[in-house]
Amino acid sequence: MSLLMPTFFTDKITDVSPSFLKTQGVTSILADIDDTLTYHKDPHVPEKILEFINLMKLNNIKIILISNNSKDRASKFAKKLNLPYISRAFKPVPFGINLALKKLNISKNEAIIIGDQIFTDILGANLLGIKSILVDPFEKNQTAFLKLKRFFENPIRKKIKRDKSKKI
Ligand SMILES: [Mg+2]
Repeated sequence: MSLLMPTFFTDKITDVSPSFLKTQGVTSILADIDDTLTYHKDPHVPEKILEFINLMKLNNIKIILISNNSKDRASKFAKKLNLPYISRAFKPVPFGINLALKKLNISKNEAIIIGDQIFTDILGANLLGIKSILVDPFEKNQTAFLKLKRFFENPIRKKIKRDKSKKI
């Protein structure tokens, strides 16, 4: 169970501030794309997300996008934000996450993974001992596969949210 527990949770990624990250000793964000920064497969960058990314850049917080989705999906989205990315990351397997750390040239202690999925983003972070923030999914036009994932995730998500000490 503890492998499925995020370090923190919040409703949305834009709740995360540079000062909060600095208190955690975090210099870099490894951010999931689908359902974390926008709707699943949606190529549009929401205005609030653009502001969030710019705020982080202004505060010298490094960001890399790390997605299990295709190169086509991840590269196009990353280009709009002018950010590096890892596609087909195979989270929760450590491979893609390690590659992201290497690309940013940081240690895992400086990193935090932010994502909407417990079995990929949070488990992947915990397998490597990296801090994490679970966010609520954007959620729209869910595929049958995603619905099934949420079915297994939701009871765990509820349990996580009962621990108010983890709320940002
Ligand atoms: Mg996601």
